[in-house]
Formats: sequence, C-alpha cells, structure tokens
Amino acid sequence: MAQKITVDASGALNVPDDPIIPYVEGDGTGVDIWPAAQLVMDAAATKHGKTIHWKEVLAGEKAYNRTKDWLPAETVEAFREYLIGIKGPLTTPIGGGFRSLNVALRQILDLYVCLRPVRWFSGVPSPVKRPEDVDMVIFRENTEDVYAGLELEAGTAEAEKLRAFVKESFGWDVREGSGLGLKPISRFGSERLVRAALNYAVARKRDSVTLVHKGNIQKFTEGAFRKWGYELVREEFADVAVGWDDCNGEPGGKILVKDVIADIALQQVLTRPREFSVIATTNLNGDYLSDALAAQVGGIGIAPGANINYVTGHGIFEATHGTAPKYAGQDKVNPGSVLLSGVLMFEHLGWQSAADDIVRALEATIAEKIVTYDFARLTEGAHEVKCSEFAQAIVDRL
Ligand code: NAP
Repeated sequence: MAQKITVDASGALNVPDDPIIPYVEGDGTGVDIWPAAQLVMDAAATKHGKTIHWKEVLAGEKAYNRTKDWLPAETVEAFREYLIGIKGPLTTPIGGGFRSLNVALRQILDLYVCLRPVRWFSGVPSPVKRPEDVDMVIFRENTEDVYAGLELEAGTAEAEKLRAFVKESFGWDVREGSGLGLKPISRFGSERLVRAALNYAVARKRDSVTLVHKGNIQKFTEGAFRKWGYELVREEFADVAVGWDDCNGEPGGKILVKDVIADIALQQVLTRPREFSVIATTNLNGDYLSDALAAQVGGIGIAPGANINYVTGHGIFEATHGTAPKYAGQDKVNPGSVLLSGVLMFEHLGWQSAADDIVRALEATIAEKIVTYDFARLTEGAHEVKCSEFAQAIVDRL
C-alpha cells in the first residue's frame, strides 16, 4: 500500500515502509541518470523490506513541452504534499520568468538548508594526495544573501533611485552607472541554518561545526552570521556544544564550534581537511566551497545534494551538476550524483542500512575499475561502461 510520509510538530518525519516519493527525471542527461539511479535505489530498498512508490512530476523542458509551463503548479503541490522528493538536473529557462527552476523550488518551499556532504569513496580518482581525509558536510544557507536576488541593473531608473537614496540617507557615494545588489542576512535565517548544522552534528556524532564567513570585511552581514551562530550555541546547545572563545579550543567532549574566514577556509579545506567536519555558512561562500570541495573527491559527476526545511519536513534531493546536454540520451554520464542524492535521502528517511549498502556496492564497483567515461579518463586500466551498465554493476554488488 502506498502511503504518505508525514511530519510531527517537532519536525520529525514519520516514514512508512512504502512511501510515495515524487521525482523529476530531469532534462538533458536526466533520461540516462534517473533510470540508472532508480534501479539501484529500488534494489537496495527491496533488500531491506521497503517499497518506494515513485510518482513522476514534471519540471523543466519535459514540463514545458507537455504543458507550456516550466514549473507546473501540480509539481510544486506534489513536493508540498509528499514532503520528500528527488530530482535530476533542470535546464534553466532563458527568459522564462525564473532565475532558475531550482531556485524557484527552494524559495516556494522555503528550503533553507542546502546540504552538501563531501566525502571520498575509495577508488574514485582525485587530484589530492589524501582524499580519504575529506569528510565534510556543508550546510549552506539557501534563502538569503545573494540568492535573495535583490539586484538592480546599471543605468536603470531604479538603480539611480537607490543610488540617490543611499547618498541622501547614509551619505554613501556609489559610482554612477553601477549595478546594485542587496545582501540581506537576518538573525532568523542565520539561527535556523546554524541550528540545523548543530542538530546534524549532534545526531551524527560529529566533533566540530565551523562557521565560515567573511565577517572581517562585511561586518553586519557575514560578521553578524558568525556572532548569531555563537550566540545560538550558548543559548540552545550549551549542554552539547561550546564556542571556541568560551573554551579556548578545548571543548572537553562537547562539539567544538569555531569559525574561519571564507578565503582562508578555501585554503584550509585543501591543506588541513581533517580539521573540518560540519560547516555552516552563508549562501555565496557555500556555493564556492561546495563545488571546490566536490572537486577534491571526484567532481560534480558524483556530488550529491539536498535542499531541506527541517521545520516543515520538506526536502528535495538533487543531482548537483547540470543537464550536460551534449551527452543527453547517450547512456554515458555518471549517475553517481543523483544516486548519492538518493543515498542522502535514504539517510534522511532513517534508512541507514539501505544507504550503507548502496555506498558499499558503489565502492566495490569502482574498486574493480568498472566506471563511466568521466572516471575512466582518470583511471589507469579502467573498464569503461555505460551509465546503465554502471548501475547494473552496482546492483549486482548490493
Ligand atoms: P553541466 O551540465 O553540469 O555540465 C558541465 C560538465 O560537467 C559536463 O560537460 C561534464 O564534463 C560534467 N558533467 C556534468 N554532469 C556529469 C555527469 N553526470 N557525469 C559526468 N560528468 C558530468 O553544466 P553546464 O553545461 O554549465 O549547464 C547545462 C545546463 O544545466 C544549463 O541549462 C544550466 O542552467 C543547467 N544546470 C542545472 C543545474 C541543476 O539542475 N541543479 C545545475 C547546474 C546547471 P565533461 O564535458 O568534462 O565530460
């Protein structure tokens, strides 16, 4: 029997063994990677007595071609009603009234956390010497900062109006002909993001949370994020976590909350990755960090992601790469990103053993050098297989 996932007042999910999960296949290579990922997820779920009732919903080109709507209301409603969903990559419509469909979904459902775990899977080709040292989980704020999209184009009457306003009100001199943007960072937005990161660290027994910010320069936005983060630790997490300044870096068994300026963080995640576990950061920093870190452990072909609201229970798990249109329909690209997003979804649903099984089978497949083209070109003696063959090889090793 197909059942809905529900959420209780505390934000905890009630997950039946036979949940209905909406999915968007995705544009471009979505036709290749989605069926491959689904095959593996279904096999792992079945092994653990679960049955996923997949419900296809449309977004992107497929939606536009059928309904003349890039993001039909039924799709948003399905994600709203069934709480948890998963999606392949979507084409960004040019002139479609959206900055991006992904951004639209995040904003409509207020998915305030962009969750990007970054860890190495044995055998995956990597440009760094010790990729096994990389095991970080990034909590990137999803609704504020530059993602708020509050921008005015240079030369427009609106930009000139704002320029005149800030001159008159604050005495700020902005050069004529400038494009202008607002960077809002609120206490509410910062607190709920850091709270989610800390709750995750507690639940997963992680030993540190690092606040990454640019507060040395942007004091009242990035700096405030840092300050509110530390205040939250004192107010809500004092029994399990402690800020660096409150313990001189000696947390005494509690989770250590520290902070690093964004530019240095980008160096240190490369040179001292073991010092980072959970990272909580503002939107733009998180954007750079997530992809830079993904490159250390195998690139965007296998980086998973999710957008979550831990209060309403809504979550959309997604491939982090784009549609790679030049490979569409060739059964060629790596299904790892959407598959590992499925693994992340299983973990979020509490299906840890099924998630672990997929990871083990994926590693076993790669250990035998059975890989798609992207890893094959970096792996000596690789046996290059198609996207669907790679998925079957994983299923065979489950
Ligand atoms: P892209 O689709 O991510 O592709 C860039 C390159 O990344 C590909 O040429 C390929 O590299 C590699 N790649 C991507 N997916 C891969 C996979 N599954 N396996 C192995 N390698 C993979 O970026 P783009 O070409 O800039 O964007 C194309 C479209 O996707 C645009 O419409 C963009 O707006 C959209 N997009 C959507 C999302 C999303 O839905 N989350 C994210 C980003 C972009 P090689 O050529 O080196 O093999």
